[in-house]
Amino acid sequence: MSRTVYVNGEYLPEEDAKISIFDRGFLFADAIYEVCSVIDGRLIDFEGHFQRLERSSGELDLNLPASRDEILEIHRELVRLNGIQEGLVYMQISRGSADRDFVFPKDSKPTIVLFTQQIPLQEMIDRPKGIRVISIDDLRWARRDIKTVQLLYPSMCKMMAKKAGADDAWLIQDGCVTEGTSNNAYIVTKSGTIVTRQLSNDILHGVTRAAVLRLAREAQMQVEERPFTIEEAQNASEAFITSATNFATSVVSVDGIAIGSGKPGPVTARLREIYAEECRRQAI
Ligand code: PLP
Repeated sequence: MSRTVYVNGEYLPEEDAKISIFDRGFLFADAIYEVCSVIDGRLIDFEGHFQRLERSSGELDLNLPASRDEILEIHRELVRLNGIQEGLVYMQISRGSADRDFVFPKDSKPTIVLFTQQIPLQEMIDRPKGIRVISIDDLRWARRDIKTVQLLYPSMCKMMAKKAGADDAWLIQDGCVTEGTSNNAYIVTKSGTIVTRQLSNDILHGVTRAAVLRLAREAQMQVEERPFTIEEAQNASEAFITSATNFATSVVSVDGIAIGSGKPGPVTARLREIYAEECRRQAI
């Protein structure tokens, strides 16, 4: 069934939506994006995603073509037009089109594209499964804090994981885990401390990460923000990932070694529960 998508001011059937072959998002990956989840037809953590979009655009000198209120309205209208109860809204903003040149064009008009995807998020919350990850060298560029559409290496890593019979990969830099291909990575030590890498240019500053860590601290759980190794993960009592589309999902094995019981663990279950509750409360 055809979706309605949004391109540069127009709501269109997806087959009629077009952008230029000179768009810098296409030619240079000169574009940023955000993914916002939808539950019960409402947007989760929209403010966090918008704030990160503003930060990404600032880091790249890319002007946002719409205000917060306009962008919120486009999200809501697409959710409504496509009848999305559970799913996500993907938004991509490029520097626009100009004759191909490495130098940023002076007056290009940014391209803004949004579309929805229907995903059974509630089922994932209610019947969580554990994922298996493998470790792979982190060969991405060094500004992973900017959410750009340069997603080729993460795609290659997902393919390597699939080929190895796993679900995803954790990326390794200087012997420690940075993050997952499209999620932040955590372990829970045998003493119950939640460990995740501290914020820097090495990782994306996950909107879900911020919410989950805040809720964990409010629930009196111990949190330590520091790098951890694969060996530490393999000896942990639990491991998990977070992202807008995964909430908190257990990692049950790393490089073929079972973590803890080898099943989704109670700390992750608790975090997912309190995060899902908060999402329902805060969704707009
Ligand atoms: N890290 C990377 C590399 C990602 O691509 C993502 C999400 O796409 C995340 C972390 C999680 O971020 P968020 O919780 O904002 O979805």
